[in-house]
Amino acid sequence: MPVRVETFSQVEEAARALSSNQKARIYGGGTILMRSVNEGDQSFDTLFRLTDPTLKDIRSEGDRVLIGAAVTMAEIIRHRDLSFLADAARAVGGPAIRTTATIAGNLLAPPPYGDLATALVALGAEVRFAGQGSANVPIDEFMRDRESRKGSVVTAVSVPRLADPTALRFLKVTRVKPKGVALMSIAALLPRAGGRIDGFRIAYGNMGPTPLRVAAVERALEGSSLDEAGITRAAAVATEGLDPPTDALASAWYRREVAPVHLRRLLLGQTG
Ligand SMILES: Cc1cc2nc3c(=O)[nH]c(=O)nc-3n(C[C@H](O)[C@H](O)[C@H](O)COP(=O)(O)OP(=O)(O)OC[C@H]3O[C@@H](n4cnc5c(N)ncnc54)[C@H](O)[C@@H]3O)c2cc1C
Repeated sequence: MPVRVETFSQVEEAARALSSNQKARIYGGGTILMRSVNEGDQSFDTLFRLTDPTLKDIRSEGDRVLIGAAVTMAEIIRHRDLSFLADAARAVGGPAIRTTATIAGNLLAPPPYGDLATALVALGAEVRFAGQGSANVPIDEFMRDRESRKGSVVTAVSVPRLADPTALRFLKVTRVKPKGVALMSIAALLPRAGGRIDGFRIAYGNMGPTPLRVAAVERALEGSSLDEAGITRAAAVATEGLDPPTDALASAWYRREVAPVHLRRLLLGQTG
């Protein structure tokens, strides 16, 4: 069946059209969608291409940075205000993919994808939608309701500007070097105050249906000085409350076994 492409210069117009057409999809960089087209996916028959220039903006908003939905991995890597996201953006595919893959597409990407999204969850990003002005949805809420938000147009992602760019750490575990998909990815936000962790957030990718936080690990490390005792406590509860998948990359058992090892490496700063 042929796929139609409709182009919108105004994002609000696209949002209105999307709400009345369940067989339309927003086209970001197309690195996932075009594969579906080539595979003959019948769940959609129309692609909405957005040319609204605001979707390419990267700008400051108080103590946060607003990243337009159509900003690519390559643009994130190059931007000096987003250096803390560069490791995660660099983990997405090879150079050709990074030139077209967008931040919004990564937020909506099904497993095993979503490396940048995992870092955005750890960072406490917020997501902005067409038709909602400048109201932001916290990323935890966005991920929880991701399936039901598929009929909405993401316009931007707001991230806190990190005073210390090294406070965000990212690790991708893959079986194909150097550039396979993630068996799991882990991102940690480790802000410090007076030598102690203050506002710790940890997120795993590919350990559930979407990137998600692990409350038990956060509790184990919050307020600690990231010493050996704290890291051991965190590793002991590395997969508490999680139901990791079994897929072509690894079994749930294997994921549970290796998660504490990789968590420990990330917390020790052994991410290279
Ligand atoms: C060879 C290859 C390697 C890859 N490697 C990785 C990898 O290592 N890590 C990784 O995370 N991903 C990887 N991917 C997957 C993909 O490239 C990325 O996840 C990418 O960020 C998806 O973004 P996109 O703009 O191309 O999405 P698209 O294909 O355009 O869209 C993906 C989904 O997002 C929706 N969408 C896009 N923009 C919007 C918007 N503004 N509002 C609402 N919905 C929207 C689409 O409708 C669709 O459902 C790989 C893909 C390929 C082909």
